[in-house]
Amino acid sequence: MLACNFGKLEEEISLVNNSQAQWFHIDVMDGVFVPNISFGTPIMKIFQQKAEKPLDVHLMIVNPENYIQKFADLGSEIITVHIEASTHLHRNIQKIKSLGIKAGVALNPHTPVSSLSSIINDIDLVCLMSVNPGFGGQKFIENTFDKVAELKNLIIDSGSSALIEIDGGVTEDNSNKLFDLGANVLVAGSTVFKSKNPRNTISKLISG
Ligand code: ZN
Repeated sequence: MLACNFGKLEEEISLVNNSQAQWFHIDVMDGVFVPNISFGTPIMKIFQQKAEKPLDVHLMIVNPENYIQKFADLGSEIITVHIEASTHLHRNIQKIKSLGIKAGVALNPHTPVSSLSSIINDIDLVCLMSVNPGFGGQKFIENTFDKVAELKNLIIDSGSSALIEIDGGVTEDNSNKLFDLGANVLVAGSTVFKSKNPRNTISKLISG
């Protein structure tokens, strides 16, 4: 939802409600972990009230442990924290799950998939950043394809049920390949909201 028009937020939410998209992906940025500030809890409250699909909340913030309870209270179905922002990643995961919420871990483009090996069985989702986090509308980083394949192997080998989510630069040109390599969830912002027919674009991304 980072790429939506916040001046028409309710209309944009309604557009997604009436599309084939399955989740709302909500990027929370603090201006510290990433060089941008997106929005805070007042906007999250609007999603909670108006969105008719699960809220997939991506915390691009330092000290995420201080905000897990808050975003849980605001109706999150999934909360994803960054491995690079979590000194005590396992504790953060346990905290999210103790609130009855699905727990995700996000990796920046430079962070190897192998850094998840000790925790892959404890999490519900891995978010691979396919651009450097902080801005919408960036170009897809090609080595993400290799990371998806490597992550898929790690998940199969460890018997984990974690979903693979790809976040950044997803377009109709790479969506098929990402699904083929094992991605389960594609996040699309600018590709959808800057297109002429957003609902049509969503269905094309899903059907490949
Ligand atoms: Zn995100």
